[in-house]
Amino acid sequence: MGHWVAVTKHVFQRRYSSVDVSIVVIAGSTGIVLIDTGGSPAEADELLGDLNEQFGLPVVAIINTHAHYDHCFGNHRMVERTAAPVYGHHLVGEHFRQYEQPRLSAQQANPLLEPEMQWDNVHLLEPTHPVHKRAVIELDDNCIELLPLAPAHSSTNLVVFLPQQRIWIVGDIVEESALPMYSAGSDTFGWPAALESLVGSMIDDDLIIPGHGSVVDRGFVIQQLELLQHMACSVRQGWIQGLSESEVIRGLTKKTPFSQTAIESAVTQGYKHLSNGRRATCLTSPTTSIPNATTN
Ligand SMILES: [Zn+2]
Repeated sequence: MGHWVAVTKHVFQRRYSSVDVSIVVIAGSTGIVLIDTGGSPAEADELLGDLNEQFGLPVVAIINTHAHYDHCFGNHRMVERTAAPVYGHHLVGEHFRQYEQPRLSAQQANPLLEPEMQWDNVHLLEPTHPVHKRAVIELDDNCIELLPLAPAHSSTNLVVFLPQQRIWIVGDIVEESALPMYSAGSDTFGWPAALESLVGSMIDDDLIIPGHGSVVDRGFVIQQLELLQHMACSVRQGWIQGLSESEVIRGLTKKTPFSQTAIESAVTQGYKHLSNGRRATCLTSPTTSIPNATTN
């Protein structure tokens, strides 16, 4: 933590200690693309200072991996100081209105609710360029693909893929320094489905930069996928057996490594979806069912 790690010649990661959030930079000859902006204006200011010191180039585009506070509450300050366009999933604005703005307003009215947050001067800024389907940004010879996902870790996940360098910047759909977190807008069944689809496009030598933690490989992503699949299957089985939410939560607390908060969130959201008549299938094991993608 505390320094830029060169993932490749043009791609850099820096981990910031407040919640070990990953900030990623794709460096061009005359400008940089910044992925995520930190969790407050103060963090965005610190980040911009670090960017200027390391790269000395203007920020020409900002990309949000998703709408959770630690990845995008620095948007407004970063745009104020760089005037860069912001690319993000088209549902970020909706997510802000449903989850982040109420939480922010409550904290601003009573900072003691979350005293560790520096949110007194946060203004939420939605992407200026909402992404509805696969889009491409070009930076010198680098092709930067933006892939908005169906609801997964949140309803707003957007994966950044660099096809020439085989690098995936995936936000919180994968975490290395902690277990994946079910929180605002998480989809208990959609998450493993979306990740399984991505894993099918990865090859063994790919580099995957998670939202929290160091660079991982496809094998690590498959292990995490299996945890998410297990959670989805357990929730579905509890529903089929007629168990209450609290019974499923108690059972999962004994047999999974997830935190109590994550389990409660996953079960509550899973039961809500199932009670709305949604089908939830148990997925097959990715270790046997997912072939490597090919690069040709
Ligand atoms: Zn998140």
